[in-house]
Amino acid sequence: AASSPILSTTGLSASYGHARALHEVDIRVGEGELVAVLGPNGAGKSTLLRALLGLVANSGEVRFRGASLPRQNAVAVASRGIVLVPEGRGIFGPMSVADNLELGAYRLHDKAEFARRRERVLTLFPRLKERLGQVAGSMSGGEQQMLAIGRALMAGPQILLLDEPSLGLAPRVTGEILETLGLLNREGLAIVLVEQKAPLALKLANRVYLLSLGRIAAELDPRDITSHDDLAQHYFA
Ligand code: ATP
Repeated sequence: AASSPILSTTGLSASYGHARALHEVDIRVGEGELVAVLGPNGAGKSTLLRALLGLVANSGEVRFRGASLPRQNAVAVASRGIVLVPEGRGIFGPMSVADNLELGAYRLHDKAEFARRRERVLTLFPRLKERLGQVAGSMSGGEQQMLAIGRALMAGPQILLLDEPSLGLAPRVTGEILETLGLLNREGLAIVLVEQKAPLALKLANRVYLLSLGRIAAELDPRDITSHDDLAQHYFA
């Protein structure tokens, strides 16, 4: 059932200098929903996430739980619990796994809550538990992605935005990571999953937006997409 949105945009546009990369995008993410944003290279998927976070020059409106978010203000956005797992993961390679996790919770001053979140992350990703003292940059790509998600969870997100978490990963580890995202979503966490690889995202998503040339080309119910061919047809419709 579609609930009231936790996050929604109206006419969200974004530009790099004079080049507009996002045009009048309207999307909504319901409380507890997992929304996939699919699109080819350069469609503007990363730009959409950056615009939601106020990390790129943008216009239009972003609402979080009914209130308009101040634009161009990434700190204000982050303090509401809108947390990004960026493309390329953005972890600190020379630092240990434990220190990377701690950085995710830098706003948090409650020790018990810190311990609770850390335990939760290490339960979700047992491989991180085995590697707490390891230098993050020496881990496999999949482990680094787990760490990036773990660090985001340490921030206590109200909504988690992920930019191509499967990028460069083998199908098996991608499946593991997406399963964990599915679990978090079933527990009630709202998620926006940006992906190029559609089949995996479609399995999890409640709703799908297709992004093409910086515009929303379609909004789909994943149950209506029976094959990859269907999706390609939608793209080029
Ligand atoms: P990819 O999967 O390749 O990252 P994407 O769908 O995330 O693709 P974006 O990275 O959002 O696409 O790029 C959308 C458009 O904006 C592209 O035309 C890109 O060249 C342009 N663009 C992205 N970042 C910048 C930047 N920092 N400066 C100038 N143009 C940019």
